Amino acid sequence: MELNERQEKILEIVKKYGPITGEKIADLLCVTRAALRPDLAVLTMSGFLEAKPRVGYTFKTEAVDNEIKRLLNQYRVGDVQSMPVVLKESCSIYDAIVTLFVQDTGTIFIIDHHNFLSGVVSRKDFLKTTLGQADIHKMPVSVIMTRMPNIVTTTMDETVVEAVKKIVEQEIDSLPVVKCHIDQEGEERLEVTGKLTKTNIARLFLDLASRHNERG
Ligand code: ADP
Repeated sequence: MELNERQEKILEIVKKYGPITGEKIADLLCVTRAALRPDLAVLTMSGFLEAKPRVGYTFKTEAVDNEIKRLLNQYRVGDVQSMPVVLKESCSIYDAIVTLFVQDTGTIFIIDHHNFLSGVVSRKDFLKTTLGQADIHKMPVSVIMTRMPNIVTTTMDETVVEAVKKIVEQEIDSLPVVKCHIDQEGEERLEVTGKLTKTNIARLFLDLASRHNERG
């Protein structure tokens, strides 16, 4: 649920000074008690605040859970994504491994000759290949990649929470951020526009934690 600016301010005040009366909240916000009534009603009815007679407003503990959920669900993949590392299917496994080191990435997205997503290669795929007898200078990366349609993807406007669920459930490190195009045959083709990795998520986590410390 979306809260307006004043409702957010009321929550901050109650968290800091609660239990606190409606009059005192109104004073702190420089508004009349009557002007505040609708906002206080919304916050009480939606479970953020508890109104106790002769005591005032307190912050409900379940409200903390609601607030965490609300805060996390505000973030979209587009807010935290990073630049993808992309190579052509014809690139050799050797060159792809060099790219992995030079670009300091764990996963490379592979594109076909129309520049649409066709595969994903990760560290384990490379390790598996180098255990065998393959000529990694000659063999193209397309031979070892995980192929479409088995690639799990996300989009810029998906919530970070939904995307993290995919990463956890599929036990993978990253998702290509894609934009869907329809080709002449009416088939869906995916353009890679970014990547969402466990590092992006760890950064967001740290960012939220430090923001919380600043407030608290
Ligand atoms: P690592 O190899 O570094 O452990 P992952 O856990 O991400 O990295 O990869 C494990 C396997 O999953 C690899 O075979 C890889 O090709 C595949 N994979 C990686 N990302 C995806 C994805 N987004 N969709 C489908 N398969 C993936």
